[in-house]
Amino acid sequence: GPPMSSSLLNGLNPEQLAAVTLPAVPALILAGAGSGKTRVLTTRIAWLLSTGQVSPQGILAVTFTNKAAKEMLTRISAQLPINARSLWVGTFHGLCNRLLRLHWRDAGLPQAFQILDSADQLAAIKRLLKALNIDDEKYPPRDLMHFINANKEEGRRAHEVESWDDYTRQLKQLYEEYERQCRREGVVDFAELLLRSYELLRDNAPLRQHYNARFRYILVDEFQDTNRLQYRWLKLLAGKTDPLNRALGKVDTATGETIPEAAVFAVGDDDQSIYAFRGANVGNMRDFESDFAVQTVIRLEQNYRSHGNILDAANALITHNRGRLGKNLWTEECAGDPIRVFEAASDFEEAQFVVDEVRQLNREGQALSDMAVLYRSNAQSRVLEHALFQAGLPYRVYGGLRFFERQEIKHALAYLRLIANVEDDNALLRVINFPVRGIGNRTLELLGETARGTGTSIWQAACSGGAGRSAAAVGRFVQLIEGMRAQADGLSLPELVQLAIEQSGLLEFYRNDKEGQDRLENLEQLVSAAARFVQDNEDSVVDFLAQASLEAGEHEAAPGQDALQLMTVHAAKGLEFHAVFLTGVEEGLFPHDNSINDPQSIEEERRLAYVAITRARRRLYISLAQSRMLHGQTRFSIASRFLSEIPEDLLKWLNRGYAPAAMPARKPEKAAPEHGMRVGASVAHPKFGTGVVIDYDGTGKGANVQVNFGAAGVKWLALDYAKLTLV
Ligand code: ATP
Ligand code: MG
Repeated sequence: GPPMSSSLLNGLNPEQLAAVTLPAVPALILAGAGSGKTRVLTTRIAWLLSTGQVSPQGILAVTFTNKAAKEMLTRISAQLPINARSLWVGTFHGLCNRLLRLHWRDAGLPQAFQILDSADQLAAIKRLLKALNIDDEKYPPRDLMHFINANKEEGRRAHEVESWDDYTRQLKQLYEEYERQCRREGVVDFAELLLRSYELLRDNAPLRQHYNARFRYILVDEFQDTNRLQYRWLKLLAGKTDPLNRALGKVDTATGETIPEAAVFAVGDDDQSIYAFRGANVGNMRDFESDFAVQTVIRLEQNYRSHGNILDAANALITHNRGRLGKNLWTEECAGDPIRVFEAASDFEEAQFVVDEVRQLNREGQALSDMAVLYRSNAQSRVLEHALFQAGLPYRVYGGLRFFERQEIKHALAYLRLIANVEDDNALLRVINFPVRGIGNRTLELLGETARGTGTSIWQAACSGGAGRSAAAVGRFVQLIEGMRAQADGLSLPELVQLAIEQSGLLEFYRNDKEGQDRLENLEQLVSAAARFVQDNEDSVVDFLAQASLEAGEHEAAPGQDALQLMTVHAAKGLEFHAVFLTGVEEGLFPHDNSINDPQSIEEERRLAYVAITRARRRLYISLAQSRMLHGQTRFSIASRFLSEIPEDLLKWLNRGYAPAAMPARKPEKAAPEHGMRVGASVAHPKFGTGVVIDYDGTGKGANVQVNFGAAGVKWLALDYAKLTLV
């Protein structure tokens, strides 16, 4: 009732109030981080409902993550006695799924259609190529997958693909065959969810009109990150004509009445557009203004989230981007603390710094769950997780699995487990056909039966040749594992890990996978983890495996337990925390190597940094490491350009010793050593292979150098004894 609605509106500033209480007109809320966009969107839903302007059925809201959707539902149902389930609030994929579940028949799907994730999709494509006897060297499955998905995201079915040469004609043909296979098996991939429900609305006028009449209010958060097909889907739902197809009638075929357009309320921030690499299109904001003849553009400029220094830093950084729509954020809050900058000598020291600071803040009463550690790339989380685990600090990783639970890591560990113990059936079943070796389920059933019959392991069954038609493939797998076991003797743990990920074919598999970059990095991180492990422990694969499973399960924060939040910057969008640790702020890492040579990509990286900084309410830490073990080898880096784009007077260097005036610099150089093996020099060792000098001490007969040998680990060597040569 009315009292509820007025209390809902309490505390809103005039622009927010105007946005929340807009009549049913199309509107664009263009506003910077922390200005209350999400709050305005949620409050508008609550206000529309509590004033009786619309029933829950009349609202559709799109959020960017399931987490955000859940939060929105909780907030609304806390304020209003409504059945939250009747509200259509979710992600694009979630809402499309909901639509297709309801109208599966009209959509031409089986009632219980299954959703393929991208790994499943790839497997399906491989199966298809095999069944059709297509050369997968000439038509790599991943290329085909990207061809299919890119076309679907543009709204194109196979028959609509223009083919101008034999190669594309063949791809087009395969796209068609893939669609047929999916239909036959009753499965739907991610891109299909959206395309299928778009087509359903486009082609089924009564259904479309039903939803046009139903959803009077459509609200979209993070509008800057919608892609073209999502935008067209929204237009259909809102009762807009789609110029790329035929004009759609806006007259109800049953009653002859004109259906008014839905009031679309789009909320976004061009400075936080961070999904261009996935086809998101900021141009949707401009198109929205013209397609919907938007008269109402509201700008929110007051930031309620962050202290002044944090906001100033974000504002200063983002002005280095060109072609912005332009916004000016201010806050009534005090300047607050300066931004604390820590330059560590290594990633381990950086992780230790994070642990110490988190502990200190926690002791002062700050909940762990109100602190976040952010990183640009998933591979960075391993060292952080390890330090947190050692310190016994509960943490939770969002938008990604904990390191040792990741698929590629579990695969690699399964090979190591088999090397350690061939009788490990679980490990065997996990990888006997991964990467694909043509050993199918029927064979595995056969092997299982034989093993059960004779009371032995599946390995034994495999060795005895009881594998029917796939006997040869199974034989090759047995040989592969035997071969690795034979070589394992005399190898250090990191060498063994390297061997396992190479010879198993895992490295090659993920190297060929366009989406596999992260997984590849993680595999290489596993080699680094092993190198690190042997510095402090027995050189034993069994001990290493034990630690891996402990770190994977035991200390997992229980749901509801207070836990530090770890996530990529991408996954942090829309969230806020009392304290934020932005780690790895180094050239080549953030901005990422892939972006360094492209001004557009640098701008996207800068927006990403802007998103990261604006997550912090009170405390922001920025850290970097002069050296970092990545991809199994040590790399040296300098501070990110983004750090120098933040005014120096907002920063407080915690370890000034390292960092002279404006730009952080390297550790002061020691006097050049007389043996010539300065830091960074390449050296070779008969047993450990080639490596890079990372430190040295002593002189004459007492001279030692510390060398990173990649897979063979980091070693201190006495120059007098070690047969070390400069290369
Ligand atoms: P982002 O761009 O990061 O998604 P946003 O614009 O969606 O940010 P919100 O998350 O809605 O911003 O709001 C940021 C913070 O400011 C939240 O804690 C919110 O509760 C608070 N806030 C927003 N408006 C007000 C207000 N009028 N008074 C007090 N606090 C507010
Ligand atoms: Mg938001």
